[in-house]
Amino acid sequence: MSAYEIVDHKYDVIVVGAGGAGLRATVGLSQAGLKTANITKVFPTRSHTVAAQGGISAALANMGEDDWRWHMYDTVKGSDWLGDQDAIQYMCREAIPAIIELEHWGVPFSRTEEGKVYQRPFGGMTTHYGEGTAQRTCAAADRTGHAMLHAMYQQSLKARAEFFVEYFAIDLLTDTDGSVHGVLAWDLSTGQLHRFRAQTVILATGGYGRAFFSATSAHTCTGDGGGMALRAGIPLQDMEFVQFHPTGIYGSGCLITEGARGEGGYLTNSEGERFMERYAPNRKDLASRDVVSRAMTIEIGEGRGVGPDKDHIHLHLEHLGPEVLHERLPGISETARVFAGVDVTKEPIPVLPTVHYNMGGVPANFNGEVVTCTDGQNDTVIPGLMAVGEAACVSVHGANRLGSNSLLDLVVFGRAAALHAARIVKPGGAHKNISKDSEERALARFDALRHSKGSTSTSTIRSNMQRTMQNHAAVFRTGESLSEGIEKLKDVIGSFSDVKLADSSMVWNSDLVETLELDNLLGQALVTISSAGNRLESRGAHAREDYPDRNDESWMKHSLAWRTSATDVKIDFRPVHMYTLDDETEVVPPKARVY
Ligand SMILES: Cc1cc2nc3c(=O)[nH]c(=O)nc-3n(C[C@H](O)[C@H](O)[C@H](O)COP(=O)(O)OP(=O)(O)OC[C@H]3O[C@@H](n4cnc5c(N)ncnc54)[C@H](O)[C@@H]3O)c2cc1C
Repeated sequence: MSAYEIVDHKYDVIVVGAGGAGLRATVGLSQAGLKTANITKVFPTRSHTVAAQGGISAALANMGEDDWRWHMYDTVKGSDWLGDQDAIQYMCREAIPAIIELEHWGVPFSRTEEGKVYQRPFGGMTTHYGEGTAQRTCAAADRTGHAMLHAMYQQSLKARAEFFVEYFAIDLLTDTDGSVHGVLAWDLSTGQLHRFRAQTVILATGGYGRAFFSATSAHTCTGDGGGMALRAGIPLQDMEFVQFHPTGIYGSGCLITEGARGEGGYLTNSEGERFMERYAPNRKDLASRDVVSRAMTIEIGEGRGVGPDKDHIHLHLEHLGPEVLHERLPGISETARVFAGVDVTKEPIPVLPTVHYNMGGVPANFNGEVVTCTDGQNDTVIPGLMAVGEAACVSVHGANRLGSNSLLDLVVFGRAAALHAARIVKPGGAHKNISKDSEERALARFDALRHSKGSTSTSTIRSNMQRTMQNHAAVFRTGESLSEGIEKLKDVIGSFSDVKLADSSMVWNSDLVETLELDNLLGQALVTISSAGNRLESRGAHAREDYPDRNDESWMKHSLAWRTSATDVKIDFRPVHMYTLDDETEVVPPKARVY
């Protein structure tokens, strides 16, 4: 391994990832006077956050009455009682100053007549604890993530953060006790390897939607942070909860924002019926995403899908009129034209439930610290490691995330992690030891993959994994299909030892990048489908046909999954925080589900 020359760097804090979460953390760290480096495999403003359309929630009450406690109630309920209530309280309360901060940083929010930040209704967002409809989602037309990402990148530069762009983080560097002290990274443009030492590493690497065949997320959403965590012996939490967005464009998977239904769009089946009125009489097309996705799947399953194969559903916007569409939904009008060949002012858009968000991730508390739990009760903090954004599981989304709560999660917990790092990291402090073993392992894996001379291409293995996950860890699951899926996935993982790389160079080797990403995806696919097979109830996005009810007595707990060998997973649990930050704000689980 000594054949690799490695360039050394020393920072107070390393952030891996420059999406919304990584950038918000980077701004805060730099402003706090910590020497901060941000490592990112894509240019910051190309991170998947740029694609977020609908908006970011906060109880600003700009367009009707609102209260952050109602937002908190909706989020706890939306999480199907698996969210940690202390973290949810923190997020919903801090949402209001977070939006004002973004506004001051230059995010060009859409405006009301009086010049206030415009807010639209979104699924699951209510007033008076479920009674009315809240207009809570702040939007910059349908390009909110784009606007936020650009503003935060500019703020990071202003705060003099250092960026290592198109650097691929390979693995965490740890000491023998598992504490984290750095990252091994590969500069894609020169081929040079780099050892970044830091007092704290923050993972902000985003989700792993690409473990599935049809996903709204970018091709770069390969959950590299989760892959690194699993290899470092850290468990991933609540991985069975994968959100399907009701309105991915049929065929391409591109997202049509929930904001489209927020503005008055509705779904119909082959009989032209607005079927959501049957499934969710109150919330109708704005019921939470799991409810709408399941209703669509049932309609298609019962033969009421549209199109020649009766395998999708129609989303109507044409009644909104060209003016509203042009002003409020310009981006999706274009997406529908390009990816479905549809003029939204005249015809409905063909849509299908598509993988959209990973509720699960690296377990973290609301300070961003990564935790593990080995006695089923108490958290142990992993020294030197934090996680934020979609890569993390704080858990504010529990079993199901409400639309517009993720962009909020990014900025609130990106900021919280920076504040906490400023409390525990001494500027210019000493760097701890990295064990030889940890570095050797990271290099050996990299080297072995680089020189793989098997017979199966990376893309074939990836496609086998994606199809297995799409068919077996789908909107509806049964014990039988999950067990079958686990066996198939084990075979796919087995085939990875026979992977073939055509290119072993170090410069711009996209073959090797995709293979490293596939390795990360395989680990996450395995813990996802294993955790799904293990959870014998239906909750949020996890719908088991063989266990149709939520079972709070046995299952109101977070799953933790360790990858103990290439194909083995160990599952344990961590309690849900049913307490809040103070005694006054309390949310009690209801007896039955009411939508
Ligand atoms: C199409 C779409 C629309 C959405 N719309 C909304 C919405 O309207 N409202 C809402 O609240 N949520 C929305 N979401 C969800 C939300 O946008 C995402 O959850 C969120 O943007 C994730 O942000 P992140 O910072 O965690 O990660 P990302 O934005 O995915 O960024 C990940 C970063 O990690 C870096 N990275 C990853 N791996 C490595 C590695 N190995 N080495 C170096 N760097 C690495 C990447 O370069 C990138 O900078 C949407 C999601 C999608 C896919």
